Amino acid sequence: MIRVTIFNEFKHEKEDERVKAIYPDGIHNALKKGLEDEEITVKTVTLDDEECGLTKEALDNTDVLMWWGHMAHDKVPDEVALRVRDAVHEGMGAVFLHSGHHSKPFKLLMGTSCNLTWREDGDYELVWVTKPSHPIAQGIGRFIKLEHEETYGEPFAIPEPEETVFIGSFENGEVFRAGCCFKRENGRIFYFQPGHETFPTYYNEDVIKTLKNAVHWANPVYRTKIDCPHVGKPLE
Ligand code: ZN
Repeated sequence: MIRVTIFNEFKHEKEDERVKAIYPDGIHNALKKGLEDEEITVKTVTLDDEECGLTKEALDNTDVLMWWGHMAHDKVPDEVALRVRDAVHEGMGAVFLHSGHHSKPFKLLMGTSCNLTWREDGDYELVWVTKPSHPIAQGIGRFIKLEHEETYGEPFAIPEPEETVFIGSFENGEVFRAGCCFKRENGRIFYFQPGHETFPTYYNEDVIKTLKNAVHWANPVYRTKIDCPHVGKPLE
């Protein structure tokens, strides 16, 4: 089984009736319901949990961490963000969703501002597959159509991705690198743009299929403790 931990800050769903109507149990539980199958098991944690639920032990027992946050990025303690970064360096997989582009751990892993342009007009989005052979795009057709999404546009201030699996195009012209793969030391990272809280994006079958594929792709094949060993004597 692949052990997934979903972190959701879980604020909008408690404070905004529109969001509560779509995700009554929180985005994390909607994702858990969509992702769990005979190969994936999911635990959920939220901002209000002690240490955000992301203790060293929790991360050691996580194969892939999924992250949704938006209005309270600054409430995640720096030490938790650094712990997540280190876990990725050791080999843990990570999937950052939507506004998670501004989360502390994503920015730490990218090393850039991760800024972008945005509008909230309820445009439709076509999430185009750019690499049909990529493991994360398997089972998806030419594109995923989302009736409404928040518009994210370029420039997206990230380092050049190792692979760009999706590019989103929006009703009023913007384009955005919607599915990006990175490797940092031993860990794999996938950023996926869809998932604004006022739209039912995480009930879309193709979105869930994409996220399941991403979990499999990011599942570690190698994991180690980060160190810088002194090797002592020469071989000969
Ligand atoms: Zn949003």
